Amino acid sequence: MSDLSGLFDPKRVAVIGATDREGSVGRALMANLSTFDGDVIPVNPNRDSVAGTKCYPEIADVPDPGSVGLAIVAVPAEAVTDVVRQVGEVDVENVVVVTAGFSETGDRGRQRERELIDVADEYDLNLIGPNSVGLISTATGLNATFLQSSPPNGSISLVSQSGAFISAVIGWATQQGIGFRDVVSLGNEAVLDEVDFVDEWGGDPDTDVILAYLEDIEHGRQFIDTVREVTNDTPVVILKSGRTAAGAEAAASHTGSIAGSEQAYRAGIDQAGALRAVDVQDVFDFGQVLAGQPLPDRDDVAVVTNGGGPGVLATDAIGESRLALAEFGDEIRRQLDGVLPDEADVRNPLDIIGDADLERFRRSLDVVLGAEEVGGAVVLSVPTPMFDFEELAEVIADIHRRHGKPVVTCLMGGGAADRAADTLEAYGIPNYFDPARAVPSLEALADYRDVTNREYGSPTTFDVDRDRAREILAGNDTGREGGNGAAYRGIEAMELLDAYGIPTPAGDLAASGAEAEAIAEHIGGPVVMKIVSPDVVHKSDVGGVEVGVSIDTVRDTYRTLIERANDHAPDGTILGVRIEELVDPDESTETIVGVNRDAQFGHVLMFGLGGIFVQIFEDTSFRVAPVSEQEAREMVSEIRAAPMLEGARGRTPADVDAVVETIQRVSQLVGDFPAIGELDINPLVVSPDGVAAVDLRLTVDRAEL
Ligand code: ADP
Ligand code: MG
Repeated sequence: MSDLSGLFDPKRVAVIGATDREGSVGRALMANLSTFDGDVIPVNPNRDSVAGTKCYPEIADVPDPGSVGLAIVAVPAEAVTDVVRQVGEVDVENVVVVTAGFSETGDRGRQRERELIDVADEYDLNLIGPNSVGLISTATGLNATFLQSSPPNGSISLVSQSGAFISAVIGWATQQGIGFRDVVSLGNEAVLDEVDFVDEWGGDPDTDVILAYLEDIEHGRQFIDTVREVTNDTPVVILKSGRTAAGAEAAASHTGSIAGSEQAYRAGIDQAGALRAVDVQDVFDFGQVLAGQPLPDRDDVAVVTNGGGPGVLATDAIGESRLALAEFGDEIRRQLDGVLPDEADVRNPLDIIGDADLERFRRSLDVVLGAEEVGGAVVLSVPTPMFDFEELAEVIADIHRRHGKPVVTCLMGGGAADRAADTLEAYGIPNYFDPARAVPSLEALADYRDVTNREYGSPTTFDVDRDRAREILAGNDTGREGGNGAAYRGIEAMELLDAYGIPTPAGDLAASGAEAEAIAEHIGGPVVMKIVSPDVVHKSDVGGVEVGVSIDTVRDTYRTLIERANDHAPDGTILGVRIEELVDPDESTETIVGVNRDAQFGHVLMFGLGGIFVQIFEDTSFRVAPVSEQEAREMVSEIRAAPMLEGARGRTPADVDAVVETIQRVSQLVGDFPAIGELDINPLVVSPDGVAAVDLRLTVDRAEL
């Protein structure tokens, strides 16, 4: 990826389309740029000066134009491409196009945007926009936006796909005292997108946290790879809104309807190691706490309060989080006994009682944070005549510094709390009115610690018969459409699984009663018999599956199954009946391994309980493919029913390793064949001795093979 530092650190900035006209973008840009440390050069053929500064007709007229580090373009849409070309001609590398009227406005605009992209490519420009609100880099006072406020300096960098989001939150965040390092409004992302900025800021020592407001993620895999790399050192918090249109493909498989793109986003964002915020408050809460606080080395938290009620609220919030109340050991109790009055209960949450003075607060906090069993603390205080909040803030900051453990506070009150909050903020300690907000912030620290400790592993490559798989996928057309021109394959393609080393029951396709009997005799009965027809997608729904057929009734059953198929689809194609080994249902569990193809993230794998459970309980887990062994194992352990597989309540544990391997092999299969759209093994029967894939459905775009 290209080096974008020039965008944030120009010495000279040209504003093309600068003007003094009241209410114009060009004027607002000039006004905001008045705080910039470097030169601001207005460019406009119709003006001699703007904002009291000499104005040049074109960028080429500016003395030494190549030393202009950044050009802001705010000319009418129809002139943008030419202006950007002129910028490229004089070797300015960094451009922000704030002008709207591009791909967001229909055909003409889309055409314009394509032309703009061509010019940007030709001159290798780092181009933000078009339709961007602009960019801010507080270190040099660079506010190249037309927003109404300028945020204070800080260590949070923010990228947003919505300009309106930036307009809305910058003023608000400024009021909350949240400082920023860099802010970018991506606009239409004609050239640069969120991945470029995550990558750039990941290498910026002055960015402690990256926040992103996203509506879509166009290059899913690139996003995962880049964010994964960056989150080793810099936390990335994402507020993701909106959904892409659900894939319109008429899903031939169950999975299709479940593995919608929201699932892909959820999986992708998690696999990238980004933290997902649920609302605007969250994203800034997480940003602040991650920027200011150390990571806890354990999830056990102490609550220290001078009021019982707030302590209970914090305790509830902890109960609803991944965190736990730390259990105070003998040593901590002994020490606290020496600090607290007799009537105080030495337990967590620790109520140091309403008459607590500063000294009691100080000593209690010191003991608690010094204890090994405590990973971090929530400190609560209600207003009291014993001290004022600002004094308490200093005490908390002092003890906090000594122990290097994360602390969040709730100084619950009005104006006095606000001033104390400023003091705390200066030490990086976030203060909240509501304990229910303080706890998720601590939780975000624990989540991020886990991200930094994560081992992703790399996908295993199994020895498979790829050529055979390609033959089967390319195979004869069964006549059924899998949507979007893709072909459908059912159990006639079971051999595909064999080629990829996924266990299937012994079996074969019979085209007559006699053949059916011969196959059954070869397998040894009783057997399972199934209609094989592209027009019977859900076989048992039409009585198309007979389980446990004895050899002497195979011929009759063959006839019955063909009749049922004919009844169900009189004009359908019937390929025959599959005769297969009966998988012992004893101690076995039906699971499902599925794949869906997401427009942004590519193949997304699904695991869950099979049969009716998949639809009723949606007890499923998702990962963007390819997955490592580690990730495949997480998919299994994540579902709520995992204990069933792992041997809860005296059940013999199922062969989870075989499930994990099957997921990995499916991952490899779809990685080898991007032409596979959806794939569904339902059920994958899991027993203590292994797995068997007894059913298969897939769609394949044969033109892509
Ligand atoms: P469909 O999903 O199209 O109805 P399946 O091939 O999945 O058809 O069969 C339906 C059900 O029959 C399976 O969910 C499973 O419970 C059972 N079944 C299918 N094949 C076997 C087999 N070889 N051994 C044991 N049970 C089977
Ligand atoms: Mg099935």
